[in-house]
Amino acid sequence: CGTSSLLPMTPKKPPQWLQVVGHAGSFHVGDYGTLLKRFCEGEQQCYLRLMEDVLRPYVPAYHGVVQRDEQNYNIMDNLLTHFNRPAIMDCKMGSRTYLEGELLVARERPQPRKDMYDKMVAVDPEAPTMQERSQHAVLKTRYMQWRETLSSTTSLGFRIEGFRVDNLLPFPLQKSNEECHTNFKRTKSREQVIEALDNFVDSNTQIVWGYLRRLKQLRQVLEASDFFRTHEVVGSSLLFLHDWTGRTGVWMIDFGKTAVLPAHLTLNHRTPWEDGNREDGYLWGLDNLIDMLADMLPL
Ligand code: ATP
Ligand code: MG
Ligand code: MG
Repeated sequence: CGTSSLLPMTPKKPPQWLQVVGHAGSFHVGDYGTLLKRFCEGEQQCYLRLMEDVLRPYVPAYHGVVQRDEQNYNIMDNLLTHFNRPAIMDCKMGSRTYLEGELLVARERPQPRKDMYDKMVAVDPEAPTMQERSQHAVLKTRYMQWRETLSSTTSLGFRIEGFRVDNLLPFPLQKSNEECHTNFKRTKSREQVIEALDNFVDSNTQIVWGYLRRLKQLRQVLEASDFFRTHEVVGSSLLFLHDWTGRTGVWMIDFGKTAVLPAHLTLNHRTPWEDGNREDGYLWGLDNLIDMLADMLPL
């Protein structure tokens, strides 16, 4: 999979890679500006197809598989390589973050779950129905769908998983003062999300412009992509990066839950989801995200 985008990593300063969310043990820094992510066959299939698709410039370049300590890893570009201590944000796209297939599995064994009832009540005592209350239990499918309504996933088609920011001064001038924010599980309204976005960009309109330009390009390419038309894209994120030089970038990452559709079926990613139509709301969420960023700019 050798590609020309594989540039040598300048052996600068400390961290070559910082992670916002996800399982820390799943990643290693590789050679030549690459990142190793614990192998998942579905994800590999997606990256192989994406390398042949118009979306290629919007995903990390994929370089095959490597084994380390008896564990296989997918090798991809480390997107942080060309940034200088960037601010990083992970937005999980789509109006649901479970696959229809996961719902099917959960339905096969419809056991009432007491643990999930307890979790639900801990968050919102009003959430359970009369019947659930009398049983002191909820079905897993019900819990999965309820959980999505807490964040902006159901209402806006994306949610902020987390971001980390640094003071945006060049490295020698000020020592690191990094903050990680991952408490957005109940960030739901348009206003709350805009406030979080504004914190992430530190109210810098140049940065907002950079992101808007990139997202509008991405939207056009998504609308023309064969890969996108033929996949249920669930649990995938947009990774936002900017640094003190004013450089911005957005890439699609995390295809561990992206599922290829049966041959006769395609998605437009905007039609509301109904059980069975496989729609994921990805483009609807991107439309909302673009509108919200545009609203952050002065008139
Ligand atoms: P989850 O399924 O819980 O979302 P995961 O284990 O599938 O997590 P990812 O979502 O792929 O992991 O990545 C987790 C985090 O790692 C991202 O939020 C991002 O901060 C970082 N990351 C992932 N891929 C890259 C990349 N190619 N370059 C730089 N950083 C990355
Ligand atoms: Mg992820
Ligand atoms: Mg994942």
